[in-house]
Amino acid sequence: MSLTGSYDDANIFAKIVRGEIPSVKIFEDDAVLAFMDAFPQSRGHALVISKTSKARNILEVEPQVLAELAAATQKLARAVTAALKPDGVVVTQFNGAPAGQTVFHLHFHVIPRYEGEALGRHGGGMADIDDLKALAAKISAAL
Ligand code: AMP
Repeated sequence: MSLTGSYDDANIFAKIVRGEIPSVKIFEDDAVLAFMDAFPQSRGHALVISKTSKARNILEVEPQVLAELAAATQKLARAVTAALKPDGVVVTQFNGAPAGQTVFHLHFHVIPRYEGEALGRHGGGMADIDDLKALAAKISAAL
């Protein structure tokens, strides 16, 4: 899938928003959901999505929703940083398959980076669910 096309209601994040598949949540409100990436590129890799928008990417998103996502991304990055004490944090977002996007529901990545630790592969191995729950609890406690 590229930059053109229509929103697929069966995408994995739409299913997470509807509660049809599980996710390890960090925080949510009526507008946004932050949860752990199941195939993390580093310890504490988390994602933020809109619960209301059907934007697939940043080009399509309503400015008000983008503002909500930006604020939630900052909130998540602050909590991840406070909880896990990384040496740096990457905030990123991909648009279209050639740009690296694999789930076509707009999302922001918050990826803590640790000195001397290489970044894991995008779409690498699945994390242990109990590890993700422990990280989410730690990050939530730092909100
Ligand atoms: P992107 O490649 O930018 O579209 O990012 C999609 C992200 O979603 C990747 O980092 C995946 O590891 C992550 N991901 C895919 N499926 C799930 C899932 N069921 N729960 C949590 N994260 C997921």
